[in-house]
Amino acid sequence: MTQDLRQLFSQIPAIDRLLHDPQITPLVARFGHTQVVNALRERVQQARQSILQAQVLPAWAQNWATAVAQYLEQAGRPAIRRVFNLTGTVLHTNLGRALQAEAAVHAVCDAMRYPVTLEYSLDGASRGHRDQAVAGLLCQLTGAEDACVVNNNAAAVLLMLAATAAGKEVVVSRGELVEIGGAFRIPDVMRQAGCQLVEVGTTNRTHSKDYRQAVTENTALFMKVHTSNYQVMGFTASVSEAQLVAEAQAYGIPVVTDLGSGSLLDMRTCGLPPEPMPQQLIADGVSLVSFSGDKLLGGPQAGIIVGKKELIANIQQHPLKRALRADKMTLAALEATLRLYLQPETLFENLPTLRLLHRDAAAIHEQAQRLLPALAAHYSPAFTVAVQPCLSQPGSGALPVDSLPSAALTFTPVSGQGSELEALAARLRGLPVPVIGRIAGGGLWLDLRCLEDEAGLLEMLLQ
Ligand SMILES: *Cc1c(COP(=O)(O)O)cnc(C)c1O
Repeated sequence: MTQDLRQLFSQIPAIDRLLHDPQITPLVARFGHTQVVNALRERVQQARQSILQAQVLPAWAQNWATAVAQYLEQAGRPAIRRVFNLTGTVLHTNLGRALQAEAAVHAVCDAMRYPVTLEYSLDGASRGHRDQAVAGLLCQLTGAEDACVVNNNAAAVLLMLAATAAGKEVVVSRGELVEIGGAFRIPDVMRQAGCQLVEVGTTNRTHSKDYRQAVTENTALFMKVHTSNYQVMGFTASVSEAQLVAEAQAYGIPVVTDLGSGSLLDMRTCGLPPEPMPQQLIADGVSLVSFSGDKLLGGPQAGIIVGKKELIANIQQHPLKRALRADKMTLAALEATLRLYLQPETLFENLPTLRLLHRDAAAIHEQAQRLLPALAAHYSPAFTVAVQPCLSQPGSGALPVDSLPSAALTFTPVSGQGSELEALAARLRGLPVPVIGRIAGGGLWLDLRCLEDEAGLLEMLLQ
């Protein structure tokens, strides 16, 4: 080792000495001995690497206390953190889909803090059913006879098939062999559930006779899958649930539907095209309908199955139900969310998903105008800030080709350089409450549809 390197290494203080540094002892009180020692070791290691690779001490080695404090702050940051969702996608899967209503937040906090009547009925102390409270509400809201709740809709579809059609044939239209993001594909789920998929019709057209001709003595179900994340347009034909139920009656075959989003409310009230609703399908005679809790319903992640009493009873008794069941926090949040639907007068006010979908473009535009002057001044001269109309999306595969008029704040680099745009987007992602927008057409777009904490955003963006 050269004299120079030796000299550099000698400048790295001993960990024991650092631990007694009056600037570092407060860190021990705050983060604990173990974490501070680990952080010091990590920093010493980084300094050694820097000497070996670049023959210099890192700049931070000027002040070890600050460097270690920074390291501890970074490492102590939760991996799951609050962000501002200004992507324009209301139900953003990567950002956690539906925001919970205050009533749901309170219900979850209680379920976390205190013992709750999860499987315990207070009248008579017999062991109640885990889904019972929620099932009552689901029946009231959808007109179904009974209900079952599991971890998510993927689990609901798997369980529904495993409990009603294992070892048997399930007839599905070729136009409905859907892939949802994250490796959920109907043919694969079918195999996992132990069912044999019988494809009928073509990609664009399937008729009643296609289902009829596929019936064998081993047919267990006719299944419909809502093509929630794409649309087939042009020369198309499909068989509605009502038609299929009429067709199936002659054979005594139940019809089941994977509805995906399953809004309990007519989406036309939000200025969106109608999305099929579970209550309609139940009224049409479908035996089982499954849908998500955290898509348009606006509740927690959950899979909900509603339908005929005896089929739900089979599902409840299936061993997979135990493996896929929802936890107490989910059930508490779902119950509180469903209760909001009993009071339609205040639903839009109290349920964030609907409140955000329902926001009027003019109000969003006004909000953008309010924020503009401070931001334009702060980001000048490097960026031009403007208010522009844009289109938001419901997201999570719900109503995939439909969009809602909205307004965005756009940041365009005066230099016209894409690298500056990327740097800005990265800087906003690095804020204490990260701000997530999207880059399009040479600018960074912050769609304000989902912005409710206006002061909080301004505080971040003016840092
Ligand atoms: C979203 C969706 C699923 C998966 O639901 P998760 O709740 O995300 O598991 C399944 N089927 C359809 C048609 C969907 O739209």
